[in-house]
Amino acid sequence: MNSSYYKYCIVPQCKSTTIETPNKLFIYVPNNEQIRKKWLKLARRVDVHSLSTNSRMYFCADHFDKYFEKKSKKDDSMGE
Ligand SMILES: [Zn+2]
Repeated sequence: MNSSYYKYCIVPQCKSTTIETPNKLFIYVPNNEQIRKKWLKLARRVDVHSLSTNSRMYFCADHFDKYFEKKSKKDDSMGE
């Protein structure tokens, strides 16, 4: 197994990782402080400030149903 492919969901209480749930879709959190803070807020991470903007963060698809459904559905690129 290639460890560089390892991803985990940063949402509290979420146990999704590429090991535990390999079939789950992981969405990269944009490397932009503003966007990141917004997403982390949605994820109810209270430790937003301790998280480096340089580290890789992922949400699993679970939370996108919940938090991002209301956003425009045609925007599949998630700001890339
Ligand atoms: Zn998750």
